[in-house]
Amino acid sequence: MQPRRPTRQIVLGDERTGLVRVGGDAPVSVQTMTAGYTHEIDKCVAEIHKLTAAGADVVRVAVPEKKDTEALPEILAQTTVPIVADVHFHFKRALEAVEAGVHKIRLNPGNISDRDQVREVINACKSGANGPNGRIPIRVGVNEGSIIERKDKQKRAKELGAFFSDHKHGYMLAIMIAKLEEYLEIFYAEDFEDIAISAKSMDATLVIDAYTEISKRFDHPLHLGVTHAGPKETGCIRSVVALGTLLANGIGDTIRISYASDPVYEVEDGLELLYSLGLRERKGAELIACPTCGRIQVDLFTLTQDVRRTLADNIEVPMKVAVMGCVVNGPGEAEGADVAVFAGDRKGIIYVQGERVATVPETEILDRLLAECKTFQDRVRSGEAKLGEKKVDIVPPDPEGELGSGWEKMAAERIAGGTDLTVGNT
Ligand code: SF4
Repeated sequence: MQPRRPTRQIVLGDERTGLVRVGGDAPVSVQTMTAGYTHEIDKCVAEIHKLTAAGADVVRVAVPEKKDTEALPEILAQTTVPIVADVHFHFKRALEAVEAGVHKIRLNPGNISDRDQVREVINACKSGANGPNGRIPIRVGVNEGSIIERKDKQKRAKELGAFFSDHKHGYMLAIMIAKLEEYLEIFYAEDFEDIAISAKSMDATLVIDAYTEISKRFDHPLHLGVTHAGPKETGCIRSVVALGTLLANGIGDTIRISYASDPVYEVEDGLELLYSLGLRERKGAELIACPTCGRIQVDLFTLTQDVRRTLADNIEVPMKVAVMGCVVNGPGEAEGADVAVFAGDRKGIIYVQGERVATVPETEILDRLLAECKTFQDRVRSGEAKLGEKKVDIVPPDPEGELGSGWEKMAAERIAGGTDLTVGNT
């Protein structure tokens, strides 16, 4: 991991929402965007609450029409997270959103480029009543899809004439940087520097190249994202490879993962990415689960999903919980877990910080594991136990003859009692 790149800092929020700092020494924040219509106030508020509960630090809403900006005061009054207005094409939506009290504006140089209009928005943000410093920050987003000149052929030829030879995406990078320099000039001329920058693309390698180049040229905080990444199943890989690479290189101050799926997944996966890189302090349990193999003798995929949901609803302490398919390799693979279950033949052996506490039938694993996690959480909170204090050090029972051959037994609905896996508390 490279040290975080030093940047300026912008501040979003107010007394009601609390302040979210982006850039400088602030932790990397997670943003998302509502998927519903902003003018449907009740639904929009409910979605923002859901995203806030999932852990979003900042939520963006689209304001394509006046009825959307008119809905903002009520939405702001009912929500507790900084709200960003996403503005395209109509600079007046930005002015209305500032008037309504939003905490940040996003502008796209690709579709709001008139200097006078941009200047008007900047000046509105300079005296934004809802900004913590009397100013509302602005994100300048040069997305690949909307920055190439399409009408003016001469300008387009000039833009495409520039080239960054270091990169496969040399032309596009040159255009992105040129647009940014040109656009930011308007902001600097107005003495406005509460700026964040984004340069998104659906191509993960272009995202890596673009932010890398931008980070060398500007010291404004960077909002990372892979745009139009697709559904969660594939968008997850594309986003994590780009954002993970940049973050590991010290680049990036706030992130938005974009899926064609429920935005709650964007928040959950964004947080997990930051936890995995050690850039945010984990809230809740960290789940370790084995990928399964031919030794498996329980339905581990279902069990793992059930455990994940149950822990998310019940555990707030950042304990490590391991769900392992067998006692052969499981103990080694779960090294360092606070609470662990190792499956046997339709049974589970449960350990808390290395101590075997129970052996239960497969149908009772979930409940007993949760009970042990809750008890352990209470002990951590009372100071009786410390997270990660003892490494798992388990000598497993001999699997030969005791645990049977696995899938055949499950298929035959046989629940066998191994000599070393007596059901009940131990
Ligand atoms: S823990 Fe056991 S079942 Fe799971 S992958 Fe490792 S060896 Fe296979």
